[in-house]
Amino acid sequence: MSGTRVLVAGASIAGPALAHWLRRRGAEVTVVERAPELRPGGQAVDARGVAREVIRRMGLDAAVRAACTETIGAHTVDVDGNVLETYRADDDGGDGYISEIEILRGDLSQVLHDETRDGVEYVFGDRIAELTQDADGVDVVFAGGGRRRFDLVVGADGLHSALRAMVFGPRERFVRHLGHVLAFYSVPNEFGLDRWLIEYQESGSGRSALLRPIQDATRGMAMFSFRAADFDVDYRDVEAQKRLLRERMAGLGWLTPRILAHLDDTPDFYLDQVAQVVMDRWSSGRVGLLGDAAFSSSPLSGQGTGLALVGAYLLAGELAAAGWDPQAGFAAYEARMRSFVEANQEIGRLNARSRDVPGPDAEPSPDFAGEWFTELVGCALNGIELPGYADVPDFGAPAGTPIPSSAKP
Ligand SMILES: Cc1cc2nc3c(=O)[nH]c(=O)nc-3n(C[C@H](O)[C@H](O)[C@H](O)COP(=O)(O)OP(=O)(O)OC[C@H]3O[C@@H](n4cnc5c(N)ncnc54)[C@H](O)[C@@H]3O)c2cc1C
Repeated sequence: MSGTRVLVAGASIAGPALAHWLRRRGAEVTVVERAPELRPGGQAVDARGVAREVIRRMGLDAAVRAACTETIGAHTVDVDGNVLETYRADDDGGDGYISEIEILRGDLSQVLHDETRDGVEYVFGDRIAELTQDADGVDVVFAGGGRRRFDLVVGADGLHSALRAMVFGPRERFVRHLGHVLAFYSVPNEFGLDRWLIEYQESGSGRSALLRPIQDATRGMAMFSFRAADFDVDYRDVEAQKRLLRERMAGLGWLTPRILAHLDDTPDFYLDQVAQVVMDRWSSGRVGLLGDAAFSSSPLSGQGTGLALVGAYLLAGELAAAGWDPQAGFAAYEARMRSFVEANQEIGRLNARSRDVPGPDAEPSPDFAGEWFTELVGCALNGIELPGYADVPDFGAPAGTPIPSSAKP
């Protein structure tokens, strides 16, 4: 059935990527985003392995590469700034610590939105307030008062997905906190940053600070990480999050005090727990989930964006291949994605464990030099088949307009 009406909640990465593929398969797509406009900010995200192939099939290779950060590599440093280790972007065939396709999250979101906005209806500053499904469709009431009926609804509304809570159950049932918190925000580049990322890890405390250049190196993007066994700060209360960050970073050396001095004048701030989403099913009737809402692997896996892009391709492809039958389409998408997601979540958990504070009760830090880890990374990057979907319609990708990177020095 062509002209299937699909509502997607969330316009970050998973939502616009799914909109791209649904439209190409012939669906009519509406994306509703809670924020009043596209959300900027976030650190760089990476497209590794099979996710790079999805970007190529989207026809966005040139647009994404034009917006890449062009980071040469990363230095880890001691408290005085002396270099301890160096990683280069071309290590491991471009799939290493700094990947060859590395793009600021906000820039990738912008590329995806720019490329889809002509063929997709975007509604900003609204959200789903109520949803009722029957055998033939889903009735949706929006918080802004609108009422509409869709054939399918997909939640791409992130780790704290409201749609997941509405249809599948409370967040506590699915969200697993990995014991760390990450914060990101931009600062003026008063640190002499060039094309290198610099990271300081305090030994034994699980705390770290990181800086990288953005916006032609006029600014830097900072990241802080700290241990937190529990995390009860409201993810929407930015002032409480900033207080928590100040408290938890007190006494961390290196450039930390100078970075913290910009907490109140930064135009962007993002803090969240490092968490995964683990669910038995990613669909219920005519409602499905995608991206962090369904299977967050956490920022420590380095693969949240890759999973969202690959999942978007498969979800649209499988729904179209099943003639838009939700049961068959969602089931095929889940079957294809499951082990790929699990490999990436395992990497996220191992990386979190390696940042844990050593102690008598702590699990031993993983041995990343083992062959088992190389195999696991192989599965996490490339361990999934991308069918060609030759039998389903493809209305073609419009040419993406390259946008300049806001990270380029
Ligand atoms: C501002 C921001 C900064 C980020 N920074 C980083 C980072 O630096 N490093 C990293 O690894 N990951 C970061 N992430 C997460 C990263 O984008 C995801 O892990 C990954 O790309 C998968 O994306 P997603 O689209 O599934 O979820 P997300 O990127 O989390 O996007 C979810 C979207 O849904 C919207 N939304 C939430 N609730 C509703 C609702 N009820 N109705 C409609 N829309 C809703 C949100 O505003 C957001 O735009 C960030 C996310 C955001 C939103």
